[in-house]
Amino acid sequence: MPVLYTACKDCTERSPATTDRAASDLWALEHAGRTGHRRYRECVSVDLYARPANETGGITP
Ligand SMILES: [Zn+2]
Repeated sequence: MPVLYTACKDCTERSPATTDRAASDLWALEHAGRTGHRRYRECVSVDLYARPANETGGITP
């Protein structure tokens, strides 16, 4: 499951990391209301697993 956070582009604050996009959006709205900052970047992290072609079995996260 992707993990994301929202970073303010007008200061250094960022939301806590979460898998809940609505929570990240809410953080930005609350930050905008509190500071007047309106520019944000949503940063998404997705875990990947590289497996050689000859390897069998399940995927280890
Ligand atoms: Zn800000």
